[in-house]
Amino acid sequence: MLKNGNKQKESQLGMKLCQARTLLHRKLIFSLIEKSDQNLCFKCSRPMTENNYSIEHRDEWLYADDPVKAYFNMDNIAFSHRKCNKGNRGRGSKSKTTKFKGIYINNARNRKNIWQAYVYCKGKRHFAGSYATDVEAAIAYDKLAVQLHGDKYLTNAKMKLLP
Ligand SMILES: [Zn+2]
Repeated sequence: MLKNGNKQKESQLGMKLCQARTLLHRKLIFSLIEKSDQNLCFKCSRPMTENNYSIEHRDEWLYADDPVKAYFNMDNIAFSHRKCNKGNRGRGSKSKTTKFKGIYINNARNRKNIWQAYVYCKGKRHFAGSYATDVEAAIAYDKLAVQLHGDKYLTNAKMKLLP
């Protein structure tokens, strides 16, 4: 009986129920993003749509001091275009990438210093400057990150990413 009920629902929706639920969640989240004025990509500051937004972590949760806390911390959640999301970079993307934590690329034209360093602390974004190389930006990130988070913070140097 229940199975039949689901079949009817699926035939009326024209898709699997699990698909419909995922789509509903996606639409719901986007409508909340819009209602709370968060529909500008936190990477490129351009508007997002229902079809190209993604949820991402401001600070890398992987290898964080407390990965579970960093993953589920709502202050660590931001919205960005799928193509701007750092988790998707490098996968079929032609844009430059960096292995460093806290470093973002600014692709605006005629810009010499394209590598920007941002440190997130208590839900706020702190700018650590623009640099010609990602290594310089990573060093600046580390310096500001330690000022804001203390010297136990997992920096690029601590992750042995700096040359
Ligand atoms: Zn974007």
